[in-house]
Amino acid sequence: MAYQISDECISCGVCKENCPVDAISEGDGAYVIDAEKCIDCGACEGNCPVSAPKAQ
Ligand code: SF4
Ligand code: SF4
Repeated sequence: MAYQISDECISCGVCKENCPVDAISEGDGAYVIDAEKCIDCGACEGNCPVSAPKAQ
């Protein structure tokens, strides 16, 4: 199970800077998590100003 970023994302980039495995990249209108790299640490959810990353 990986985290996914919802369309609430405002593309601030904070989650990308804090992901320990560099699983997050900028997408079209929202940031995107690579499910194959994500280790479910939850750091992105904790750092996001709008709580866009959600555990699936
Ligand atoms: Fe990266 Fe952790 Fe978020 Fe997965 S849960 S995308 S490993 S910060
Ligand atoms: Fe989007 Fe939240 Fe990541 Fe910022 S921290 S890019 S709002 S998911």
